[in-house]
Amino acid sequence: MCKYCEMEAATQRCSRCKTSWYCSADCQLSDWSFHKTQCKPAQIQGVIIHDEEARKSQPDGRIFESITIDKKHPIHKEGVIPSSTAAYGVPLMVYRLKPYSVHELEPENRVATNLMVDKVWGMPPFDWEHYVGTVIVIRKDGSPLTPEGLECLWKFHESLLKTWNERPNDIPPKLTKYNLDDFCRTYRLARIRDGQERFRGLELPL
Ligand SMILES: [Zn+2]
Ligand SMILES: [Zn+2]
Repeated sequence: MCKYCEMEAATQRCSRCKTSWYCSADCQLSDWSFHKTQCKPAQIQGVIIHDEEARKSQPDGRIFESITIDKKHPIHKEGVIPSSTAAYGVPLMVYRLKPYSVHELEPENRVATNLMVDKVWGMPPFDWEHYVGTVIVIRKDGSPLTPEGLECLWKFHESLLKTWNERPNDIPPKLTKYNLDDFCRTYRLARIRDGQERFRGLELPL
């Protein structure tokens, strides 16, 4: 039965969440202003950041790997949003595979630690400073996140931290979408020049 008119047989479904069914494109369109608040993609593309031990057994020691996340994954409830990523307008959600414990230390994951830096202090929360282990990252808005996109964000954070150390007062104004976009364009071109052809597929702005 069509979710909107509740009269006709439903023959087409929302391609994003794949759970709402309609009789026609008209009904789907009419329902959208309500449905959009509930419509969650059935699956989204995220990225694993392997910890520094796990990288050793990856092909070429790679750090990032694509992963498909379904909407029941605990990352949606338990993922942490790094405040800096919210500040520049690409909010991420970061989820560690093993929760923090003082008894069982995970291997270091400085890439994840670096993503977690606070927008004001330039420091990660204490339980993210060390021994983070492997994490999964998605975009909070559900848009696909690629290893290349996440690499840009990581390098952007590295450049921020460098500035932070040299000129502490410069950090807050640098956390803008404008600066991020600018950084990503330059970084993408540099990676392509290095022969990393996969960066050609990176769509900007993030
Ligand atoms: Zn209908
Ligand atoms: Zn939907």
